[in-house]
Amino acid sequence: MSVIAVTGSASGIGAAVCEFLANQGHTIIGIDRQTDEKFTQVSADLSSPQGRVAAIEHVKALAKGQLSGLVCCAGVGVTAPDAALITSVNFFGVTELVEGLKSDLYQNDNPAVVVIGSVAATAQLAGPHAMVDTMLGGDETQTRQLAQSANAPQISYAASKYAVTCWARQQAAAEGNKGLRINVVAPGAVETPLHQASKEDPRFGEAVKKFVAPVGRAGQPAEIAATVGFLISEQASFVTGSVLFVDGGMDAMVRAKYF
Ligand code: NAD
Repeated sequence: MSVIAVTGSASGIGAAVCEFLANQGHTIIGIDRQTDEKFTQVSADLSSPQGRVAAIEHVKALAKGQLSGLVCCAGVGVTAPDAALITSVNFFGVTELVEGLKSDLYQNDNPAVVVIGSVAATAQLAGPHAMVDTMLGGDETQTRQLAQSANAPQISYAASKYAVTCWARQQAAAEGNKGLRINVVAPGAVETPLHQASKEDPRFGEAVKKFVAPVGRAGQPAEIAATVGFLISEQASFVTGSVLFVDGGMDAMVRAKYF
């Protein structure tokens, strides 16, 4: 069994991923800005470059050359205190961590990364926004300025998830011949504190509550964790660059002709 680092380990989907992987016998290094006694060993703020560097150094020290998996779950939603923070955590908090830990991942057999995206990445407002280009260009300062001037958290969120999904697919294509697999899980509505906060938000709550998946319910964090567990495992050895919707049919309902 292997050592797997998981961001967002203190809550929701990240905590469920830690539980699932630990039950399979893996050693977990949890990373979060919140503390919890179960899985979070690395206390770090992934919204800042310094926080990411500290997280990378701490994970390297704990993994002692044994890291073979990384699952990026940490994220903030539309109720985040400002629209720029969404892009810093959801995009740069993923890409810089993957880049910083890649050399460690390559030291082990069958390394794999799973990024938690979102069904929101396919929203029409995501793709064309200039923020997507600045994120993919690696320019956090410019991205934050664009996010602040747009001041629309739903656009920052969709754009950050679209950009991180594109980035993961580009990485899968670039790194595939060296053996690193990178996949994206795109959840629909999942019962977590993030989703609860969205439902209670006066700006977005009604729309969030009305957007119900064909299966007629929101998902549970454990249902996302099981998919992550498959993608990180060797059973998924030929799967890379994929975006797997785990959304109760939401994406099929909205975009049946696009896949
Ligand atoms: P959550 O709020 O329960 O968990 C998110 C975790 O990320 C928290 O433990 C939080 O402390 C951590 N985090 C946030 N900002 C951080 C930072 N700056 N540094 C370090 N850690 C930080 O939310 P969740 O629903 O479990 O979300 C997990 C992921 O799933 C997110 O990327 C989210 O965008 C995505 N997602 C969630 C849903 C949903 O409906 N819940 C749907 C689609 C995608």
